Amino acid sequence: MSKYSRVLLKLSGEALSGEKGVGFDEKTVLMVANQIKDIVEKGTQVAIVIGGGNFWRGRTSQNMDRTKSDQIGMMATVMNSLYMAEILRTIGLKSVVQTPFKIGTTTEEFSKDKAIERLTNNEVVLFAGGTGHPYFSTDTAAALRAIETECDVILLAKNVDGVYDSDPNENINAKKYDKLTYKDIVSKGLKVIDLTSAIMCMEQNMPMLVFSLIEEDSIKNAMENNISGTFITI
Ligand code: UDP
Repeated sequence: MSKYSRVLLKLSGEALSGEKGVGFDEKTVLMVANQIKDIVEKGTQVAIVIGGGNFWRGRTSQNMDRTKSDQIGMMATVMNSLYMAEILRTIGLKSVVQTPFKIGTTTEEFSKDKAIERLTNNEVVLFAGGTGHPYFSTDTAAALRAIETECDVILLAKNVDGVYDSDPNENINAKKYDKLTYKDIVSKGLKVIDLTSAIMCMEQNMPMLVFSLIEEDSIKNAMENNISGTFITI
């Protein structure tokens, strides 16, 4: 049984690209989509925020104006959400992409009420385009949308199985935390999420579970807290 009635799943852009690291990997996205289907069918409402790193990051170009570069990054997150929404459709789930800015007929403009109405109807709502503002990240967009749409938790799927005191790929003695507070993230300078999103989750009491996307059925297991990730609270 799921502990949660409404969750926000945050995926990095790279999570959509499998081992390639760029673009889309259909098999990987299907693996995620099938888990989401299972979760929705069991009665939990699912909102999704996806990063854009498989296409572009604001800091990708050292020479460009940051605002312009971030605008490209935000559009990358829209492409990712459109792709995920389409894969969800092919496996029989209703979904909608909402953006904080108008993109003609391709996406719906973000609205808290509309999002909650759709989630309540068991549609998956993908919040794309970040916050709509440069100098922010999709971590912050995930915090903002989870708080606005009254989610119970943010499920942060990463390529590592939780938060460590140092990079486990570089330090074999790196220690994993089972639990953390947002204050710890700030005071220890842990890089799992950016500071803006950590402060926001702290101020608004939004918990977060960090876990590995790669492990089999990890999103489904995260729903039941049957996973060895890191739980972050205030
Ligand atoms: N971005 C932005 N505002 C937002 C969210 C994202 O400008 O509210 C841009 C920014 O350029 C970022 C890119 O979109 O680098 C992709 O987002 P993601 O959070 O994946 O970026 P990362 O944290 O990996 O740079």
